[in-house]
Amino acid sequence: MSKRDFYDILGVAKNASAEEIKKAYRKLAIKYHPDKNPDDKAAEDKFKEGAEAYEVLSSPEKKQRYDQYGHAGVGSAGGGGGYGGGGMNMEDIFSQFGDIFGGGGGSPFDSFFGGQQSRGGGGRRVAKGSNLRIKVKLTLEEIAHGAEKKIKVNKQITCKTCDGTGAKDKSSVSTCKTCGGSGAVRRVTNTILGQMQTTATCPTCHGSGQQITAKCNVCHGEGTTRGEETITINIPAGVSEGMQLSMAGKGNAAPNGGVPGDLIILIEELPHDTLKREGNNIVYDLHVSIVDAALGYSAEVPTIDGKAKIKIEPGTQSGKLLRLKGKGIPEINSYHRGDEIIHVNIWTPKALSNEERAILESLRESPNFKPQPGKNDKSFFDKMKEYFE
Ligand SMILES: [Zn+2]
Ligand SMILES: [Zn+2]
Repeated sequence: MSKRDFYDILGVAKNASAEEIKKAYRKLAIKYHPDKNPDDKAAEDKFKEGAEAYEVLSSPEKKQRYDQYGHAGVGSAGGGGGYGGGGMNMEDIFSQFGDIFGGGGGSPFDSFFGGQQSRGGGGRRVAKGSNLRIKVKLTLEEIAHGAEKKIKVNKQITCKTCDGTGAKDKSSVSTCKTCGGSGAVRRVTNTILGQMQTTATCPTCHGSGQQITAKCNVCHGEGTTRGEETITINIPAGVSEGMQLSMAGKGNAAPNGGVPGDLIILIEELPHDTLKREGNNIVYDLHVSIVDAALGYSAEVPTIDGKAKIKIEPGTQSGKLLRLKGKGIPEINSYHRGDEIIHVNIWTPKALSNEERAILESLRESPNFKPQPGKNDKSFFDKMKEYFE
């Protein structure tokens, strides 16, 4: 894969000024920032691509070499493709922001970028672990009543050996010499408007304020390892397919003792054998024999709370809708609950013995067995509307 031209990436002309380059990159960084495009690999690539282009074009010396020799001149030809080799990692990119967005308190971008790097006191930046996504499959009963699910997840966990510090032992952690432990460095630059002070993340400790002289043997200084955790998830009643729940701090652990990411739970509904969900109502198809429909009986129907009895009146017609109030799905975060709607289907026998046939033949001409639909009977759709609106 050959690299794109850095000027094309930022969308600036070859003779663009330093300010124009900075402005173009700022726009691109906001557009493709991972906080705005979670789990979007294409956006992440664009974000990294832009950072790399800016890194070169913002340095007069690198820019000149790039103008003269192209990618080869700045050691970013990247034969292996991608940005793994000479490219930048996310931490480098975020530390660049101190310069781009002014750093320090009060910058409008602090809140925007706060999701990725939350700022502690004194300019210290704390890395945040990535969010973890899982799917949880729920039965209709679990959706109706709420559920407690214990789920084993594979994720980055805090290294138990070093307790997330990344250091071999206590004596191998010392205060960062570059920033004196504040995690930030101040730079004073002379501009036409006078002296400007900017704050940037310390390049030595990447904001942690600490330096490690000997790394933990287990996590090699990362502070996190791959591990399993059983997480108890309380799912409220009334959730539905595609809904996302979020548990703060239950995602991947962050390197070097930062804030863990969130656990995002995607809800999936498992189909039920006999009941169907229609919004917050439950629909059940009841099949009734001709005899039961004519004579009436007490039918047993399944509900999400177990079996229930419902009276089928003598002379019940096929297509009749009956309602079991409050036997549906609760509305999420509310006391209101949907109903179960029972759709009556009259079952016509498909096979008859000689004796049965004889009985029915004797009824064929009986006036009561002639269909007598009422002129003003509601249509099926009218009835559905009445029940679901
Ligand atoms: Zn430092
Ligand atoms: Zn460790």
